[in-house]
Amino acid sequence: MTEETDQRYQQLAQRLAAVQQRIDQAATAAGREDTPQLIVVTKYFPAADVQHQMDLGVVDIGENKDQEAASKSSAVASQRSQTESPRWHFIGQLQSNKAKSVARYAAAVHSVDRPKLVGMLSRGIAEAKDAGLRSTDLDCLIQVDLRPAAENDGRGGATPDRVFKLAQAISETDHVQLKGLMAVAPLDEPAAEAFARLQALAAQVREEYPEADWLSAGMSQDLEEAVLYGATHLRIGRDVLGERPYAR
Ligand SMILES: *Cc1c(COP(=O)(O)O)cnc(C)c1O
Repeated sequence: MTEETDQRYQQLAQRLAAVQQRIDQAATAAGREDTPQLIVVTKYFPAADVQHQMDLGVVDIGENKDQEAASKSSAVASQRSQTESPRWHFIGQLQSNKAKSVARYAAAVHSVDRPKLVGMLSRGIAEAKDAGLRSTDLDCLIQVDLRPAAENDGRGGATPDRVFKLAQAISETDHVQLKGLMAVAPLDEPAAEAFARLQALAAQVREEYPEADWLSAGMSQDLEEAVLYGATHLRIGRDVLGERPYAR
């Protein structure tokens, strides 16, 4: 390692350990016996940082833009063996015409928010399987719009009333597996209130679809609240990697 690389590695090691400690403490405080899964969100950071995460034992990596994720995943794949590759979680808004590309590298898509996308992803996975690029189905989470007066404006997920239709669509479609729900806390209300609604909705969905037992919620600033309200997967960027190079 160059000195610079080593410094970055040490910095990331410390930040990661601090976040893992926060997660453990939050789980204990919530009286949970399980530990929520950390997904490190590497958007805007280089493939070298993904390599560092893997060297530090992180397997789950999150990205929110297809172009960036596609090039990063191939950069990482070219330096690692197949068995060592990360599990890529696609967590951003997804245009239908990108579904085919995402199907080549993603293990999971957290941002399924409309029926059309389910069909496009299914077709993409079928093609990727035929091409020998993957053998597994795609894990799908339904992104829920938690804004109290959310309209279906295409931002930030499906409104709660549409979640069941979408769950049915995923469960009836080949090559995709319904895993659960995902959400981002709205800006204009305390995260805890929004996550409480999400937890209640997730419980309803699980009554009909017991396999949908993932709850992807919680970012750097609200991971404690998410853990308290049952998150099984946390998507953490800044508190592991630092401020993003180009915030948009
Ligand atoms: C960027 C992003 C995250 C991580 O947010 P941080 O504040 O950096 O922890 C989580 N979820 C989604 C959907 C994101 O786009």
